[in-house]
Amino acid sequence: MTHKTESHSMNYTAESLTRLAHRVLSSFGCADVEASIVSDHLVQANLAGHDSHGIGMLPMYGAQLRDGNLIANQTPQFLQRNGAVSVVDARKGFGHHMTILALDHAMETIAENGVAILALRNSGHISRVGTYSEYCASRGYVSIHMVNVIGHDPVVAPFGAREGGFSTNPISMAMPHDGKAEPLLDMATSMVAFGKIRVAHNKGEQLPPGWVLDAEGMDTIDPAPMATDKIGALSAFGAHKGSGLGIFAELMAGALAGTNTIAQAATFPNGVHNNMLSIILDPAAFDDPQAVSERASTYGDFIRSRQPAKGREAVLLPGDPENISRAERSAHGVPVDDETIRQILETARDFEVPEEDLADILEAS
Ligand code: NAD
Repeated sequence: MTHKTESHSMNYTAESLTRLAHRVLSSFGCADVEASIVSDHLVQANLAGHDSHGIGMLPMYGAQLRDGNLIANQTPQFLQRNGAVSVVDARKGFGHHMTILALDHAMETIAENGVAILALRNSGHISRVGTYSEYCASRGYVSIHMVNVIGHDPVVAPFGAREGGFSTNPISMAMPHDGKAEPLLDMATSMVAFGKIRVAHNKGEQLPPGWVLDAEGMDTIDPAPMATDKIGALSAFGAHKGSGLGIFAELMAGALAGTNTIAQAATFPNGVHNNMLSIILDPAAFDDPQAVSERASTYGDFIRSRQPAKGREAVLLPGDPENISRAERSAHGVPVDDETIRQILETARDFEVPEEDLADILEAS
C-alpha cells in the first residue's frame, strides 16, 4: 500500500526558489560563487521539469556535509593531461561547481585536438547532467557524458535480477545550435531517476507500472518501500539493452574515468557521488560548423514533422519537453510540494538560518 502523505503543491517564482536555495547553501558555508552556481543549477532543473534534481536535493546535501562526504568551496585537482585527455579529481566538492571548473580545464585542449576528453572523479552530486551538455553547447561543442553513481547501495536491477547492480547512471548528449543544446538527450538508464520515486512518495502518489521492482523482482506501483527504506530496485529502461547501457556507463565513468565502480561503493559512505566521462567534440574539426548545425537542425525539423501516432499531439525531439516545461514554469511558477518545502526549511533551521531570513523568502507565483 502507498503511504498517502496528503501533500499539496504551490507554485513559486523561480527567483524566490533561487533566493531560498542560495540562502541555504550559504548556511552550508558555500561562498557566493558556489552558492550561485549550485542554486542556479537546481532551480534550472526545476524549471526544466526535473524536480528530482531541483531544490529538493538540498536536505541531502546538508546531511552529506555534516557527514564530511561533501565539501564546500573545494578546489578540483588537475591530476594529469595526456593529449586530449584531462583527469580531474573533484575531491568531494559540490559537483555542480567542480564540473564546470573541470570542463573549462579540459576544453583548453580542444582547439589543438578537435576533441577534449574529461575524466572527472570523486565528485559530489553533479545533479542534472544535461546542464553540462548545455554548457558545452554554449561554446559551440557537441558533447557526450556518461556518469556512474556511488556512495550507496546499487539501486537499479541489471536485466533479470531482483537486486541492484548499478545506479541510475545517466547519459547526456547534445548538438549545439545557436549557442543552445538542441537536441539534448539527458536520461537516467533506469526507467526514471531515483528522485522521481522520492517526489511521488512526497506527493502521496502511486507509481506507473514498470518503474520499480519489489524485493522479489516483481513490478510494484508503491513508492514507499523504495523511497524510505530502499527495499526492492528500480528497473533499467529498455530491458536488456538499457541494462547494458547502464553497465557501460558504470564502466566508462567508474572503471575508466574514475577510481571506483559501485562494486567498491563503500569508499564513500552515505551519499550520492558521481564519476563522469565526457567526450567534447568541436564540429570545426569535422566540417564547417555552420553546415553541421544546419544539417542537425534540418534533421530535427524532419523528426518533428513526422505524423504523430494515434492519440498523440506532436512528435518531440529530446529536449523539447524540458523547453516546454521551462516556458510554462517561467510564466506560471514552479510547483513544489509542501513536504519538499518543509524538508528544505528544516535543513535551513538545522544550519542556523535565522527565522527572519526565511520569513518572506518564498514568493507565490
Ligand atoms: P526523462 O525520462 O524525463 O527524460 C529523458 C530524455 O527523454 C530527455 O532528454 C527528454 O527530453 C526526453 N523525452 C522525454 N519525453 C519525451 C517525448 N515525449 N518525446 C521525445 N523525447 C522525450 O528523464 P530521466 O531519465 O528521469 O532523468 C532525469 C534527470 O535526472 C536528468 O537530468 C539526469 O541527468 C538526472 N540524473 C542525474 C543523476 C546523477 O547522479 N547526477 C542520476 C540519474 C539521473
